[in-house]
Amino acid sequence: MVNYRYLGNSGFKVSEITFGNWVTHASQVGNDAAIATVHKALDLGITTFDTADTYANTAAEVILAEALKGQNRAEIEIFTKVYFPIGRMGPNDHGLSRKHIFDGIHGSLKRLDVDYVDLYQAHRYDYETPLEETMQAFADIVRQGKALYIGVSEWTAEQLREGHALAKSLGFQLVSNQPQYSALWRVIEGKVVPTSEELGISQIVWSPMAQGVLSGKYLPGQPVPDGSRATDEKSGANFIKRFLDDDVLAAVQKLLPVAEQAGLTMPQLAIAWVLQNPNVAAALVGASRPEQLEDNVKASGVKLDADTLAAIDEALLPVAVTDPENTYDVSPKTRLV
Ligand code: NDP
Repeated sequence: MVNYRYLGNSGFKVSEITFGNWVTHASQVGNDAAIATVHKALDLGITTFDTADTYANTAAEVILAEALKGQNRAEIEIFTKVYFPIGRMGPNDHGLSRKHIFDGIHGSLKRLDVDYVDLYQAHRYDYETPLEETMQAFADIVRQGKALYIGVSEWTAEQLREGHALAKSLGFQLVSNQPQYSALWRVIEGKVVPTSEELGISQIVWSPMAQGVLSGKYLPGQPVPDGSRATDEKSGANFIKRFLDDDVLAAVQKLLPVAEQAGLTMPQLAIAWVLQNPNVAAALVGASRPEQLEDNVKASGVKLDADTLAAIDEALLPVAVTDPENTYDVSPKTRLV
């Protein structure tokens, strides 16, 4: 089964392997496969699910709701997000204004078919809305019981500090940040993690397997595997391409003996690696089919020894991205609309 961790400085626990449905549901895979994957997650002890209004232009929330139908609401944790436009491109369809946040939560609750979400996240930082307005809107949503906890995604250390202070003054907590983090993408270690530790904010980390690259199935100089995300021209291929570099893929192949020595599969090694960081509350994994989750959940509870961690660094540090400045480029400086 899957272990639980506290989310930030709160009494709320999440499954340390959390399932997310970005680029897969209502996009790369059909609805039957999507529902079967969510049911497999539940069977394996994953109770925490992450989605966003913008995934598949709202259709990912709908398919997640269908897959979770009949579950006891108290036994599952549902996360969603607001910020990006969801199809319409009107003047108020982007960002973290009070208007977009309230339209966002009402739409998500309807599509997810729930009275509340457990965690509502600002999908990016909005440079065009006063942070006071954003945090007041989140405070009101918490008071109305529409979301139990508030988090953010890809905020810088300074933005986390300012948001945390405002939340506190408004009587709620900022409990989490959702950044990209994997053995190949370590940019949160320099600033975001130390600040978050100080403030009592957890990381829920996305793409812990670098979108499948750390599974070792992409080989340097070879065509990408059939049916993999890299073949999904509709959506996924565009996102994974940043890792499909022969030097990166060759470095990843050096992990094969490291995983074998540790008695783990490559996916398990990748997920266990992010979970060694105590500021990480959950590895947010994706899966295009149920069998992948059977493999991946076995990373829960794994302790990697110092030799294994050193061997991973030796193989990957020459190609890993570590500069904290990369966090500053993730949120758009101006709105799309
Ligand atoms: P991962 O790094 O876990 O990649 C998942 C993909 O890797 C799968 O869809 C599958 O792709 C492949 N894979 C998974 N398990 C295996 C396995 N055992 N063997 C071989 N291949 C495997 O995470 P994602 O990139 O999917 O991101 C996870 C979640 O993070 C998202 O669903 C979303 O909730 C969140 N996220 C948040 C973002 C944000 O801005 N806040 C941005 C991006 C993601 P395939 O089979 O097609 O090759």
